[in-house]
Amino acid sequence: MKDLAEALALVLDGIEPLEAELAPIGAAAGRVAAAEACSVVDLPPFDRSAMDGYAVRAADVAAGTPLRVLGDAAAGGGAVAAVEAGTAVRISTGAAIPAGADAVLRVEDADAQNGAVRATAGVDAGAHVRYRGEDVHAGDVLARPGDRLTLPRISALASAGVGDVIVHRRPRLDLIVTGNELLPAGAPPEPGKIHESNGLMVRLLAGGAGAEIRDHGVIGDDAEATRAAVESGLEADVLVVSGGVSVGPHDHVKPAFAACGVEEVFWRVRIKPGKPLWFGRRGRTLVFGLPGNPLSAIVGTAVFILPALRRLQGERDAGPRFSRGRLGEPAGPSDGRTTFLTSRLVRAADGVLEAFPTERQGSHMTGALGESDGFAVAPHGSGPLAAGAEVDLLLL
Ligand code: AMP
Ligand code: MG
Repeated sequence: MKDLAEALALVLDGIEPLEAELAPIGAAAGRVAAAEACSVVDLPPFDRSAMDGYAVRAADVAAGTPLRVLGDAAAGGGAVAAVEAGTAVRISTGAAIPAGADAVLRVEDADAQNGAVRATAGVDAGAHVRYRGEDVHAGDVLARPGDRLTLPRISALASAGVGDVIVHRRPRLDLIVTGNELLPAGAPPEPGKIHESNGLMVRLLAGGAGAEIRDHGVIGDDAEATRAAVESGLEADVLVVSGGVSVGPHDHVKPAFAACGVEEVFWRVRIKPGKPLWFGRRGRTLVFGLPGNPLSAIVGTAVFILPALRRLQGERDAGPRFSRGRLGEPAGPSDGRTTFLTSRLVRAADGVLEAFPTERQGSHMTGALGESDGFAVAPHGSGPLAAGAEVDLLLL
């Protein structure tokens, strides 16, 4: 059995990011840059006004005489007359500063009459002028390979004149859910059957992490059907099979992996819930066998599959996303496995998230999961934890 860190390294270390492709900037949002993206322009691209008012020479304003208004400079408008001594040009926010002007007199500080304007307040040279290149220079690197193209970065790239970005292609994830007992969401209850939830969670979590999902639906516990689905799913970058990964007479997943030439890297990880997690590879395809119990499947997905998807997309810091917090009440010892405790999270007065483990804990306790906001992580080997102990939190 592998420790969590060891198992994670076995999954992540062998992953090469997927090929690069060109994506329009809107479609690149949330994806990972595969090459540098550089500004096409200076920002601002030209000296421009930060205010509605009058483009002036600050020295003229200091002299206090009325200034003859030569014309109007609008945002996006063409060239206007140069400002010379004793003159001004009406200007809108975002318009280019006319030649000769060195400041903008705000409209609130101006008294305009009969084609002339008089200042009611002083202006310093440079007042309300946004200078070319004061923010960004053409050629500046705005995204590097491995950077996630967050919305702030996408906004900056759009402003910088970038229309397309080179990103890693999105991973294709094939999903197979196994179990004769599974009913689709909302189906009327039947004796001996339970409602399916793992497939739904994998679709939601992996879809949110950028995967393109092909759902094979629910496959019965049948050796040949499982083998055929696995063979077809191995065309994907990532194959996820839920359930059937144990050693019972109706668990056909491991034999199907073997029959299809998938090489086992590990089976079982020192985590709770989620111990029976299976991981292997065929060629470049990553293959995960998720334990069927819903909380095990969720932990396995959040801790292993989502980081693998991020790594495939080229993200540098692909590891599981833990937040820091502390226990709001004591928790028992971790029983030799890193334990993910379903917990309610409350922000304490000092701003730290405090975790209160739900009374019911167990890989099948979906009701307790529903009362929680995520998991508090009691590391493998830790003794009983006191209230106030610092813990990692896995938020969903
Ligand atoms: P398995 O890993 O197939 O042995 O399943 C372990 C437990 O999880 C069994 O009680 C299953 O009924 C349950 N289970 C398996 N698959 C799912 C699923 N997709 N949704 C909810 N529960 C499941
Ligand atoms: Mg099963």
